[in-house]
Amino acid sequence: MARVLLVEDDPLVRSAVISDLSGRAHAVRTAGTALDGIRELSSFPPEVIVLDLGLPDLDGRQALRMMRAVSSTPVIIATACDDEAEVVRLLNAGADDYVVKPFSCEHLAARITALLRRTAGGGGIPVIRVGGLEVDVARRAASLDGAALSLSRREFDLLAYLAARPGEVVSRRDLLAEVWHQSYGDDQTIDVHVSWLRRKLGETAASPRYIRTVRGVGVLLDQPE
Ligand code: CA
Repeated sequence: MARVLLVEDDPLVRSAVISDLSGRAHAVRTAGTALDGIRELSSFPPEVIVLDLGLPDLDGRQALRMMRAVSSTPVIIATACDDEAEVVRLLNAGADDYVVKPFSCEHLAARITALLRRTAGGGGIPVIRVGGLEVDVARRAASLDGAALSLSRREFDLLAYLAARPGEVVSRRDLLAEVWHQSYGDDQTIDVHVSWLRRKLGETAASPRYIRTVRGVGVLLDQPE
């Protein structure tokens, strides 16, 4: 079972894939344009992306490049043309596998399973990478530039939550609800944990690298500029 993001503008293909993959216990989200797909990446960090190359807003290579810029999630491209040179270009540009349209849902499901087996964690929860930061959610291990970070449980949860949403400002209220599992609490608790986490990442509020505070809004984690 995996979280699958299907970026496909054809409603017939979408509904067929949703019903088939859901029947195989995958959690499927869909987007009809590349830009919606990129937005979904942060709200629903998938373990596999199935990317149609014929989308209305961006061409396949642009869409792939933009996804690769924000996510290391494995991508299966779905192409209508059986053009080997183009497929090779896309594999070189960061795609992990491809299916040629029209494909059967069974074929796609088999590709997804095989891809998950090959990728980190053996098909479980993905390893999140943002710049030199690596967060292995399944193992609850994190490292920065290859050096293991020693984090408390809460610091790890905070880091994993922010790292799964790179570049997205997360409000203190969301952190309270999602990391602390509380509907009401003290902003200071969060600020203190953010500052401890910063220290572990070797940075300060005055000279941030990964974690930035957006005054009056919240915090965000992104790769250093
Ligand atoms: Ca299409």
